[in-house]
Amino acid sequence: MPELSVILPVFNEAEVLPALFTRLYPALDRLGVSYEVIFVNDGSRDRSAAVLRTQFERRPDVTRVVLLAGNYGQHMAIMAGFEYCLGETVVTLDADLQNPPEEIAALLAKIREGYDYVGSYRGTRQDSAFRRLASRLLNVLRERTTHIRMTDQGCMLRAYSRSIVNAINSCREVNTFVPALAYTFAQRPTEIEVAHEQRAVGTSKYSLYKLIQLNFDLMTGFSIAPLQLFSILGILVSLASMTAYVIVMLHRWVVSGSFGEGLLALWDRDILEFFLIGMVLFGLGLLGEYVGRIYEQVRGRPRFLVEAVLEQPARDAAPQKVSRLDATATGRGSSHQA
Ligand code: UDP
Ligand code: MG
Repeated sequence: MPELSVILPVFNEAEVLPALFTRLYPALDRLGVSYEVIFVNDGSRDRSAAVLRTQFERRPDVTRVVLLAGNYGQHMAIMAGFEYCLGETVVTLDADLQNPPEEIAALLAKIREGYDYVGSYRGTRQDSAFRRLASRLLNVLRERTTHIRMTDQGCMLRAYSRSIVNAINSCREVNTFVPALAYTFAQRPTEIEVAHEQRAVGTSKYSLYKLIQLNFDLMTGFSIAPLQLFSILGILVSLASMTAYVIVMLHRWVVSGSFGEGLLALWDRDILEFFLIGMVLFGLGLLGEYVGRIYEQVRGRPRFLVEAVLEQPARDAAPQKVSRLDATATGRGSSHQA
């Protein structure tokens, strides 16, 4: 059983993978612990799968490759990696070299100090100004509406102890946000600052639409505050319009006779109505986001399909499989339901 599992989700990263291998493996070799690297190919449409296969043949002793049957998203790919990993400590990072593999040593040191969850935040972030601003706003929003406390939710370079991974494996969440889910199970979380680099090759695999979806997953998965805010907004609008109505009536009564032209004429009512209609539609859409996710959850379809796993035959041996199932079952009974 390796001490350390390193999980990397891979989606159309064929160009960057060779550079990743030349930095990742030496960094792990230097740690002096037994380790396994698990690449999860998230239905790449480029040559990623072939490149990963070649790397598996080069370092079969420490490499495993999980080939998913489609593109299920970064977080589902990591969840798949969690199901296959065997290590006592599990580290996740991006495959595009934005998370320097050399930082794994620092995460591991914190785990050794007794923390069960080591998050990280990016020192100086090497992304576009738009991404940085959006992240800052979303971090504030999450901080205000959920119980998840972390400086930088977008940084995936994190380390989790075996007990947290077991707890995550016992969840059957369809749309989730791995660092937040892990945080909910953490007993002793901490975080450290890590370096961040520009994407070595290629472009971000997140379109604006995918980014919005991901952040809805975070909000809906860990808080119902957005829905509650809408109820509060509804009450406030009702109270305000009621008050305004009373004022208008009183005004008419005092002035007497001049109906129609009162305080109401001061407002551009059309604009106000469109604003309120917009709010109502947004609220409906928000409700739909929750309902849609509930629907996906209750359908209970497999969250991802595994096409193949490249690993050394010894790992398939029955005793290891049994022990892994045992480990999962233990997690289910203890930390998850607590
Ligand atoms: N990724 C994935 N599936 C996806 C999108 C991304 O596995 O549908 C992987 C991607 O290959 C990379 C990591 O998730 O290893 C982070 O993606 P990316 O660098 O594109 O995101 P960004 O750094 O722009 O937030
Ligand atoms: Mg990236």
